[in-house]
Amino acid sequence: MYLKDCIFCKIANGEIPTEAVYQNEKVFAFNDINPQAPVHVLIIPKEHYASLNELDDKELMGELFAAVKKVAEKLGIKEYRTVINTGKSAGQEVFHIHLHVLANRDMKWPPG
Ligand code: AMP
Repeated sequence: MYLKDCIFCKIANGEIPTEAVYQNEKVFAFNDINPQAPVHVLIIPKEHYASLNELDDKELMGELFAAVKKVAEKLGIKEYRTVINTGKSAGQEVFHIHLHVLANRDMKWPPG
């Protein structure tokens, strides 16, 4: 599904020209516009799902995680943090599911 007012749908289908860090038929990876680390990549499915709660397609879930590894390989990073914010109180601001991949700085745990 494509959602007309969704910024990540527009990125995924090329309406907002965005350089791909990695992509295949199902997923698209690109740099976060407001990076929280020297490497901050977002990975999205090309189809619209508002959040992890709406995504039941296990094959696509696998594609998203496989893309994390592809991005890491491509960028030559072996240590990184992968984050999925689900819902407002968890920090989700864009309601098209995305995986954050952050790297190349020291990170604290637990997160704030
Ligand atoms: P979240 O808070 O998990 O929903 O993350 C949304 C992320 O999308 C934030 O890190 C934003 O900086 C990022 N973002 C929003 N709009 C764009 C855009 N047009 N291009 C790249 N990243 C974006």
